[in-house]
Amino acid sequence: MSEHDTDTPLPREAPTDTRALWISDPRWEGDPDFAHGMTTRHFPPSAMTFEERISAIRVGLGMTDAVSVLMDQVHGARVAWVGERSRQRAENQVIRLPDTDAVITNQPGLLLHVSTADCVPILAIDRTRRIIGAAHAGWRGTVSKIAAKLMREMNRRGADLERTEVWLGPSIGFCCYEVGEDVLKRFKAINNWWPAIHLTKRRIDLALVNRLQIARSGVPPDSITSSRLCTHCRSDLLFSHRAEPTNPSRMLAVIGLRPQS
Ligand SMILES: [Zn+2]
Repeated sequence: MSEHDTDTPLPREAPTDTRALWISDPRWEGDPDFAHGMTTRHFPPSAMTFEERISAIRVGLGMTDAVSVLMDQVHGARVAWVGERSRQRAENQVIRLPDTDAVITNQPGLLLHVSTADCVPILAIDRTRRIIGAAHAGWRGTVSKIAAKLMREMNRRGADLERTEVWLGPSIGFCCYEVGEDVLKRFKAINNWWPAIHLTKRRIDLALVNRLQIARSGVPPDSITSSRLCTHCRSDLLFSHRAEPTNPSRMLAVIGLRPQS
């Protein structure tokens, strides 16, 4: 695919390719039941409005008619459900969810989006029950256990957590995420901090804390994968708020059930 042509299928994860437009979980690539992935800093390859950008994602995923679900992400722990009725409230193929950091649906043709630049994007699916979820976990969401809440709500909506699969997209790594004493204290106060905290260097493994929450919720550890890419180390490929504090740009992670044929 040409880097300047977004009307063809999106490219696969290529961590060594510094110009990759799209990252995905190799385990889920080409799955006929659902679409997923995450944009890099190079997507879109040309100037686009936000609306054009989410439209290009729909086209790239082969889901031109899909409705994009956008959360306003307030670093909280509210999990929203989007069912048939909320779907009917879509305007211009978009549903906006105020005061929300996690969302669940069983509706095909909905694309759940998470926007990040260092925070952890979490995508989840129980493909048997056809229930998907997405969450945004920064440090505040992580200490509020947003990942555990997402799993609990997915389970309440019918997902079997033993069959649920989860992907954590690129986020700031243990290598780079140094925090202040206050934040460190908040992490020490939640139960599952070890070995995700380096006490002397005051660093936190944000993705690992979320993985532990998800595993303790009942998802088999083997069913949870996370990207090895650190947004801060790989600011050539990804957006990092820490690396570029004045850059408001964000990456967009996405998951959506394809309609069943
Ligand atoms: Zn790093």
